[in-house]
Amino acid sequence: MSDELVHRTQLSPNCNERQLPITMAVVHYTEMKPVETALDRLTDPEAGVSAHYLITEEGEVIELVPEELRAWHAGKSDWRGVTDVNSASVGIELDHPGHAAENGGYREFSKAQIDALIPLLARIVKEYDIPRTNVVAHSDVAPARKIDPGELFPWDRLAEYGLALPKPEKLELGDPFDNDGAFMLAMERFGYDITDAEKAVEAFQRRWRPELIDGQVDQQIGAILFQLLLDRDRGLAR
Ligand SMILES: [Zn+2]
Repeated sequence: MSDELVHRTQLSPNCNERQLPITMAVVHYTEMKPVETALDRLTDPEAGVSAHYLITEEGEVIELVPEELRAWHAGKSDWRGVTDVNSASVGIELDHPGHAAENGGYREFSKAQIDALIPLLARIVKEYDIPRTNVVAHSDVAPARKIDPGELFPWDRLAEYGLALPKPEKLELGDPFDNDGAFMLAMERFGYDITDAEKAVEAFQRRWRPELIDGQVDQQIGAILFQLLLDRDRGLAR
């Protein structure tokens, strides 16, 4: 793509034809150091993984797969009933050491990286008319397997630009769901694969209440989920 937001292109062979139109964007971290290692892996035919873009911690945007093709970043995934997430999404990898202790432990994303991500994502969201509910973390679409980009990813900054749903501010207090089963059904309605219930709750918390990620349903996350669904149903949050 001739795009002024892209600094260089290093094409990956790991891609094929899309089977679905683009309706989603998925954010990842590479969990690798240094960025050259991640770049090697994302372009290695033996590895069989890729993304459309890799953004370095310095804010350089590297195109790996043209958007019209299906990049291989999401693996076995499910969001709002779409199980071929790779076909339906643009995948963006952030150069980041991840949660791995051997890489120095989990840390904030660099400002330069997020500053590069925002205009790129804005262009993508606009071009494909992607709803904010479909700008998601890898952990949202594969909660049983993945935790990236993790609880320090600045969703609030994306939300400021209308690129992700904001955290609901006014929560109706009280307990909107009678029991955990009702909560899980509501999670599924919002989009999560709830096959592994505890992991799905953790993924929800990582995204919406990162201060406490324990896999347990409590009143606060119940209230957050209820508000998210209400806003979507009222057409306030697309
Ligand atoms: Zn990922």
